[in-house]
Amino acid sequence: MIVDRQGRQFRNLRVSLTSACNYACTYCVPNGKRLVAAQDELSAEAMARGVAYLIEAAGIERLRITGGEPLVSPKLETFMTAVGQMGLADISLTTNGQLLAKKLPLLVDAGIRRINVSLDTLDADAFRSIARGGDLATVLSGMDQARAAGIKIKVNMVPLRGQNLDQVMPLLDYCLERGYELRFIELMRMGHLASDSNAFLQQFVSLKQLLSQIGERYEYLQADAPVDATAVRYEIPGRGYFGVIANESVPFCRTCSRLRLSSTGWLHGCLSSSNRHYVGDLLDKPRHQALPALQRLLVKALGDKQEVAFSGGATIMKIIGG
Ligand code: SAM
Repeated sequence: MIVDRQGRQFRNLRVSLTSACNYACTYCVPNGKRLVAAQDELSAEAMARGVAYLIEAAGIERLRITGGEPLVSPKLETFMTAVGQMGLADISLTTNGQLLAKKLPLLVDAGIRRINVSLDTLDADAFRSIARGGDLATVLSGMDQARAAGIKIKVNMVPLRGQNLDQVMPLLDYCLERGYELRFIELMRMGHLASDSNAFLQQFVSLKQLLSQIGERYEYLQADAPVDATAVRYEIPGRGYFGVIANESVPFCRTCSRLRLSSTGWLHGCLSSSNRHYVGDLLDKPRHQALPALQRLLVKALGDKQEVAFSGGATIMKIIGG
């Protein structure tokens, strides 16, 4: 097993199935261009082989399928069928929910039991101006159908000053009523926000600000979370839970166990590092040749992790896999 000086290991793999997305969220895709897949994306078979090799070489236990938007990818079915047979402890998916209803039978058949849906507002106008694609009612209906099919839903919201702060309480209530766990994600200095401090600071909303807004209505208590969790979790007694992924306020680099594989075959050990390691060529090689080379790259990727705190990254989330 590959372990660093701080005792960190890769246990959680995020695979960006494609960099194409049917949204172009203002904080993620600055040029507003949707559905742009990289020219040299790997096949579903190569990506699934990547997962199998990484389970062996790095000790991956849990997989999250993300993107881009994973549900727009034609690779989804083949990839999910293959990874579903690898004995992973957990397979989950992060989606904007636009195609959730349509892809639900496939997800249920593949054994998906947990989905994170990114939803920044319940206001249709604000939705259009933040996501720059998709339709709010379709997302909400997809979530209802997934819940009815027994899938556990978490909702990811990025609070943005001046754009959706008025939605913190409506979204929290909406989620509490339906048993969805809402995760606020503090805005991260990724892509254009890494180099434009003003744009970042103008929009950034901290954990403290969120808790103060929520505290005006609800009493909450800090709740248990796994050691390598990214979110600080809270319980509103009698109502449910919410969490905050507080990259800036409560950095979690010291316990980070995440590894990312991009749709073009690059390993990223840290969102905050510009280092990446190409494994696309190894995935066509037989196991006995691929694994030793992969292990050498994994040592490098683990060494890319920040010691303490996230400090920003030039790559945008939809490329690296959010
Ligand atoms: N398309 C899928 C979705 O919408 O969930 C998966 C990919 S998306 C890049 C994954 C998550 O990254 C979303 O919840 C999105 O809000 C978040 N994200 C993207 N850029 C971000 C940033 N700069 N700061 C915080 N979260 C970001």
